[in-house]
Amino acid sequence: MVIRAGTDVTDGAATALAAFTGMAARLFGDVAFAHRVALPPNWWGACDSAALLTALASVRPHPKHAAQRTLVVTFGIQVEAGDLGVGGDDYTVRLGLTPQPVGAVTTHALGVHAAACLAVSQLLIRVLGPLGFSGVAVDAPYVANLIDYGLAAAPGTPARRPVRGRLKLAVAGVGSVGTSSLALLATAFAPQLTGRLSTDALEEIPVIDSDIFDPTRNPFRYPALLGTESGPKADYMASKLTKLGLGARPVSTSVADWVVSRETPGFDGLVLSSVDTLTGRLEVTDVLARSALSLGVSGLSLHAQREGFGDGFACPFCDFVSAQPPATQAGVYAETTGLSVQRVLALLQDGAQLTAADIDQAIAAGKLPAHRRDALVGRSINDLVRQAYAEAEVRMGAAGGGEEVVAVAAPQVSWFAGVLAAAEIVKQIHGLPVLAGRVDVDLSGLPPGLVRRVPADRTGRCLCRSGTRRRWYQQLYGVQVPVEVTHGAS
Ligand SMILES: [Zn+2]
Repeated sequence: MVIRAGTDVTDGAATALAAFTGMAARLFGDVAFAHRVALPPNWWGACDSAALLTALASVRPHPKHAAQRTLVVTFGIQVEAGDLGVGGDDYTVRLGLTPQPVGAVTTHALGVHAAACLAVSQLLIRVLGPLGFSGVAVDAPYVANLIDYGLAAAPGTPARRPVRGRLKLAVAGVGSVGTSSLALLATAFAPQLTGRLSTDALEEIPVIDSDIFDPTRNPFRYPALLGTESGPKADYMASKLTKLGLGARPVSTSVADWVVSRETPGFDGLVLSSVDTLTGRLEVTDVLARSALSLGVSGLSLHAQREGFGDGFACPFCDFVSAQPPATQAGVYAETTGLSVQRVLALLQDGAQLTAADIDQAIAAGKLPAHRRDALVGRSINDLVRQAYAEAEVRMGAAGGGEEVVAVAAPQVSWFAGVLAAAEIVKQIHGLPVLAGRVDVDLSGLPPGLVRRVPADRTGRCLCRSGTRRRWYQQLYGVQVPVEVTHGAS
């Protein structure tokens, strides 16, 4: 894989090139630059392309065979053509088979970051396609934007509303999506990366996660990390943000414990949530924040959804309320994993690890392919439940009769979710139009650019149907929420 940058690739676009390099170097055996590229101050702390590849050493694969073919990815338009062209600007996403222009002036260049993620998927399609990886290959130039998520360039000068003070932001969940979101927000706002003296965009950010970084646990889907990080996730991320000049505070507890520790109820701002467990979503909903932005990832699909409360549209918990009888988390997990409810309850305790017997049971129940066995022994039940998190399946050997499913890490899915989070927050701060509802992105192809509004759960069992919570929300933010007679919710 050869990366060729045009002379027009500077500032934010060069940082997007660095992000692309971090994702590609995790997946492809031999990634090199056509020539050295100087990088602006960036999240990974690399001064140029060579230093970046060195910093990524611990997440780079070491193939046994030399590369047999070369694919050239270009950035910008002042460059000799290659196989795939990445371009765009702050909000416009450009991808094509020919070199694509980058904006003359880019700041955060989130559009180029999004194009870089699409490029990673296109490369997987090219390389793994013959082995069974399916997806929609780009043929004509692809253009989309992060303002209205339509299939056109971002409007030149979108109308801006006056901005009122700093945005109050809390980040719940610092997994692959949360770390990506924070790295991109730092790219947009941290004084050490933007070169501005200070930032008045964000209040001190509580970074909430009770988990720790484990370098042996799939660093391949964490494009924000270099694979050497360890210790409590919240501590690491808050300290890194603070060093870069963006105030942040670690909260190494559950979201529920953070809520309890706060002096006043509610959160008059935006909660960015990438938690993906039933309990986590329930806790985020019960923050009763003025609004929430939920990010979800599954395989090569992801979504971002802006949520209020009791406004007739989906709240952070609505997705988890099904039309079936209410099931406890343990029941759902037992169903998903093939383990007994009792064993699931034991595994839900802090620090509990999956044993070889647990994994064998999941395999016997047909819930897990046998080759994943060793990868999951000693991990948490959450890892078993979301084994398909940000991983693509390649079904190999279909021609030979037998079929083997191989999981391929998909760091571009986490990074794209981070791009959506950062874009929504930057737009909110700058008074640009924000997402009304939900945007779904399938990175096995080229996103068609659809925003839809998902109605609230209608079974009456979601937290957003609770009269008490509706009254609280109205009292906290002065927003009219019709208080209805509810059945089954309290
Ligand atoms: Zn709801």
